[in-house]
Amino acid sequence: MSGVLLNIAYIAAAVLFIFGIKMLGSAGTARRGNLISAAGMLLAVVVTLMKSGMDYQWIWIGLGVGTIIGFVWAKVVKMTGMPELVALFNGFGGIASVFVAWAEYQKYFSEGGILGIENDTFTAVVIVVATWIGALTFSGSIIAWGKLSGKIGGSPTILPNQRLIAVVLALLSIASVVAFGWMPDGPIGYGIFFAVLVAGIGLGIFGVLPIGGGDMPVVISLLNSLSGLAASAAGFAIQNNVLIVAGCLVGCSGLILTLIMCKAMNRNLANVLFSGFGSTGASAEGEEVEGEMKAASTSDAYYVLEAAQSVVIIPGYGMAVAQAQHAVKELGDLLEENGAEVFYAIHPVAGRMPGHMNVLLAEADVPYEQLVEMDSINPRMPSVDVAIVIGANDVVNPAASDDSASPIYGMPIIKANEARTVYALKRGKGAGFSGLVNKLYFLEKTRMLYGDAKETVTALVSEFKK
Ligand code: NDP
Repeated sequence: MSGVLLNIAYIAAAVLFIFGIKMLGSAGTARRGNLISAAGMLLAVVVTLMKSGMDYQWIWIGLGVGTIIGFVWAKVVKMTGMPELVALFNGFGGIASVFVAWAEYQKYFSEGGILGIENDTFTAVVIVVATWIGALTFSGSIIAWGKLSGKIGGSPTILPNQRLIAVVLALLSIASVVAFGWMPDGPIGYGIFFAVLVAGIGLGIFGVLPIGGGDMPVVISLLNSLSGLAASAAGFAIQNNVLIVAGCLVGCSGLILTLIMCKAMNRNLANVLFSGFGSTGASAEGEEVEGEMKAASTSDAYYVLEAAQSVVIIPGYGMAVAQAQHAVKELGDLLEENGAEVFYAIHPVAGRMPGHMNVLLAEADVPYEQLVEMDSINPRMPSVDVAIVIGANDVVNPAASDDSASPIYGMPIIKANEARTVYALKRGKGAGFSGLVNKLYFLEKTRMLYGDAKETVTALVSEFKK
């Protein structure tokens, strides 16, 4: 394949990536967007292989094994386990960039250290940058996966001299990258290369360990961005344009998502990364709540819902755990048939991954027009007859807006507390991800419907059908 054709195919692939990412911006087009981006990647891989003229045997084996593992894994993973899987994918992306950069370095090194001879400092720097960021992404992602899957504690782990170690590792990394760019050849270059590798791995571990499980989605999004940067640097190392472009797109979109999530939690990135949020009994100030949580039965709730003119359903992580989305949609339909106006209020960090609630409700065929974002629903909440909070906790915790001592103070919430009546569906007195007690459940206007969300919603549906 000629160089011109190859570059045309790469441009076509890049255009497909960009359109695909654009389409990911809305739930209605996201699936197609994903397919279009995947088609772009397939095109890029096929033309690259055609150009290389290499022996495909190992590539076919790798493709086969990777496809089977990826397919089965993605099929069996539960929706609630998705962030862990994404964390692992990021980690694999990072380690792949390390291997590409390492192979490239090995090639030069075994050929007698030609890096320095051609004064090719640029190649040396991109090799070592890909290695450093890739290693950091890999180890950080493995820790993030461990935290989310419960393999290691989800709470922030502050080790003695944690900050000092991280600062030393960061300085060591910068010094090693500069030193490698200066003298990449010979045994000294080899030594520095491995120092970079070790510093990257260490920084990933010490950087992510002190961050609490609640902040992991932000971290995963940032690691995703870093895996893109590592891939882009690897693309420079092997002079592959489409890898550079794809890496940059992942790097930028990951960073944008990271910033959006920080904004949704009303925190900045530095606070997420360095504050050790939740490490020292962060819930203490929020725990003293006066009053009691008053239980109600589904038949009591039915009478109120039956008379309601406007109902806002606020789903959270508990809906995902209970897999209640289909029952919720059925309840929403029955309420509408009964004459109520029904909306689903979506908080940007409800659940355990960005867009978690959108995905579940789309799976249950809830029309997109009924999904309303936090900023649009909040001004309407005072005129809402009933807010049904389904397994949501942190995202409706009023302490975020009225308790300046609360660790989540400042985080935007859906103002369920402003509705005329609130029904909160949860199994018991369990806390949300942040571990805080929620005042909403203690309000005079709130009634608790205890039990698994799916069973409770199904019971409400039966009441309507009776
Ligand atoms: P929360 O984690 O705050 O609360 C979930 C609630 O659901 C719990 O209080 C629990 O109470 C209840 N619950 C659990 N299982 C069931 C069930 N089967 N039936 C009924 N209720 C159930 O969820 P939110 O969605 O309100 O908030 C998300 C939190 O997670 C935020 O703090 C966010 O920052 C964080 N986060 C967000 C991510 C994202 O990207 N969306 C990713 C990771 C974390 P009980 O035990 O009593 O039933």
